[in-house]
Amino acid sequence: MTKRAVAVLGVGLVEPDEAVLTSDDLGLTRGDGCFEATRVVTTEDGSHLIDHLDAHLDRLQVSAQALGMPDVDRSAWRGLITQLLAGWDVAGEATLKLMLTRGRESTPTGPTTGIATLTPTSEISLRLRRTGISVIILSRGTASYAYTAAPWLLGGVKTLSYAVNVAASRIALQRGADDVIFTSSDGYILEGPTSAVVWSSSGRLHTTPTGPTGILASITQRALFDAAEAAGIPTSYTLGTVAELRASDGVWLVSSARGVVAVHTINGNQLAHTPALSDRIAALAGF
Ligand code: PLP
Repeated sequence: MTKRAVAVLGVGLVEPDEAVLTSDDLGLTRGDGCFEATRVVTTEDGSHLIDHLDAHLDRLQVSAQALGMPDVDRSAWRGLITQLLAGWDVAGEATLKLMLTRGRESTPTGPTTGIATLTPTSEISLRLRRTGISVIILSRGTASYAYTAAPWLLGGVKTLSYAVNVAASRIALQRGADDVIFTSSDGYILEGPTSAVVWSSSGRLHTTPTGPTGILASITQRALFDAAEAAGIPTSYTLGTVAELRASDGVWLVSSARGVVAVHTINGNQLAHTPALSDRIAALAGF
């Protein structure tokens, strides 16, 4: 069985198969909560490197605040992560997940539920990093400005309610593709179900703006853009179209655990793809 480590806020490390939720936990009954995921690299000598932990705790706090939940106890999470990593000696890449729910329906003033898990990064993710991916374009059904002044839509919040994202990924597989790029109802590129979209044209990197579009502010994309700017590559937040992706020098889906994957095909049509450029983008993003 794949090795897994699990820890619970207020409890500590638990057996990986131990039950950690009650049947009335609002994370389960309503998807009411938020989460984070990032990469942990374990070296042969057993030391651990966690990617961008501060940024992930910052974003967990932003999500919790948007959901009207109590402030994230950063030192409690850090302590829990330390416990989780203490017994982890699987060399290579693992995915650290932090899940936070509103807590139990039967105790509305009770504590939130916090669970951290660590699992080896899937072979599929590692393979797709090497091979690149095919994507299909699916509409998310909302306009590129739909999230303006509509905080109840939870734009940019990494909620636990990912059933729509998972459904889109499933449909991609059913249609023989690896992944999805969502577009807005007015025809602009948004994001993938679990990734940000980055494209290169005329020597400049582009990604979709957050805010009115409702997309998640990707930590991987931000790290990539910071490194690109430092290396003299200009970057822009651009509302782009599928036609612009097709005419670009390269398109990538980027995310914290899977890293940087090059898109080689959109809706069955091959894209321009320069492996050296993909290698550069991956290295700038820290992959
Ligand atoms: N957009 C969505 C909807 C995501 O779920 C994710 C990551 O899981 C991303 C973008 C990429 O964000 P990050 O780079 O912070 O992992």
